[in-house]
Amino acid sequence: MHKTQTTVIGGGLLGMATAYGLARLGQKVCVLDEGDTAFRASRGNFGLLWVQGKGYGMAPYARWTRQAVALWPELASLLLAETGIDVQLRQSGGFQLCLSEAELAEEVRRLQWLKDELGDYPFEVLRNAQLSQRLPGVGPAVVGACYSPMDGDVNPLKLLRALHQACQLQGVHLLSGDKVMGIEAGDNGFVVTAGEQQVRSEQLVLAAGLGNRELGAHLGHAIPLQPSRGQILVTERVEPFLSHPTSTVRQTDEGTVQLGDSAESVGFDDGTSTAVMADIADRAVRSFPRLGNVRLVRAWGALRVLTPDGFPIYQSLSKAPGAYLLSCHSGVTLAAIHALRLAPWIAGKIALPEVAAFALDRFNFAPEVRHAG
Ligand SMILES: Cc1cc2nc3c(=O)[nH]c(=O)nc-3n(C[C@H](O)[C@H](O)[C@H](O)COP(=O)(O)OP(=O)(O)OC[C@H]3O[C@@H](n4cnc5c(N)ncnc54)[C@H](O)[C@@H]3O)c2cc1C
Repeated sequence: MHKTQTTVIGGGLLGMATAYGLARLGQKVCVLDEGDTAFRASRGNFGLLWVQGKGYGMAPYARWTRQAVALWPELASLLLAETGIDVQLRQSGGFQLCLSEAELAEEVRRLQWLKDELGDYPFEVLRNAQLSQRLPGVGPAVVGACYSPMDGDVNPLKLLRALHQACQLQGVHLLSGDKVMGIEAGDNGFVVTAGEQQVRSEQLVLAAGLGNRELGAHLGHAIPLQPSRGQILVTERVEPFLSHPTSTVRQTDEGTVQLGDSAESVGFDDGTSTAVMADIADRAVRSFPRLGNVRLVRAWGALRVLTPDGFPIYQSLSKAPGAYLLSCHSGVTLAAIHALRLAPWIAGKIALPEVAAFALDRFNFAPEVRHAG
């Protein structure tokens, strides 16, 4: 039986950012991760730090996302100093490319709503001619774009590796390869069982992505999470041509180009499909015609962790005092706020009134969701 102060279930971006933040505050932390057989959004995402449009319909989430990207330089410097890993943070602003007038009008409407709510919310609307000067190589099929100086990107795999390494340097105990199958909550905290391992702790953090549905049920809470599949294509390395990320095409620090942004409800199928890949490739080539001559080298599907309204859940669980449920759909964008604000809140070091907006009880559970997991 291992004994620790806080057990974190889930070694993805959310769990590792939180574990890192807790360990920096001097907590003893143990992370349990199921490993390669689990669904792992943190290993299949697009790497954007995306702000524009986030929080449409929920202003507190827009503010939370902005706070998160403001904290990103601090997280990137800490990780570089502690691990030597440069996560390739780039906060140069990002473009949402629109291939029809209707798409552009919808994007502008959403951004205007956010500007009205937040006041300070910088963005520009560019028609194709102006856009071509800012983003050379953009195709004539792009009618226009919204630019936000708040957007950026990182290398998400380097980020995950840096968080793992930083956690280990901070003394976090990582147990990988077994799924947590049992949680017992008692007066003295929690006992978590994964394979042959048992861990006792005062606090417990559920950060298991889609696995939170099942884990929440162990503690008497229904967690309304659904998978949403995204497919991503990757090209061979090409000369640098794209100095800013766009929401559908992003050139990585290694020279490859990622193409994506599909969303499908296909249950827990994390494969790929020719039809969706063809749509993604077609849109990318219309956005940047030069990509028509570039070879694709990889493709994958991965499952997003989605709540019914798409916004995060950060909840201290009423039926299991000392346990916290964390679920989010933008774990790259939010990594810095998870490490540098959410973890201190969980450790009881700071008040964080903002998280009240992300409580679990905002959902009216449909009966089938109530019994999920
Ligand atoms: C196609 C796609 C593109 C995306 N693009 C972006 C983007 O550009 N920017 C952005 O900010 N976000 C993006 N995201 C979302 C981002 O990847 C996720 O928000 C983030 O990875 C979620 O991290 P997580 O740690 O909550 O979940 P996961 O990465 O799924 O990790 C959960 C972990 O929990 C473990 N686990 C599960 N159940 C158990 C159990 N019972 N016991 C032990 N361990 C368990 C698993 O092994 C896994 O490692 C994208 C997601 C997808 C799918």
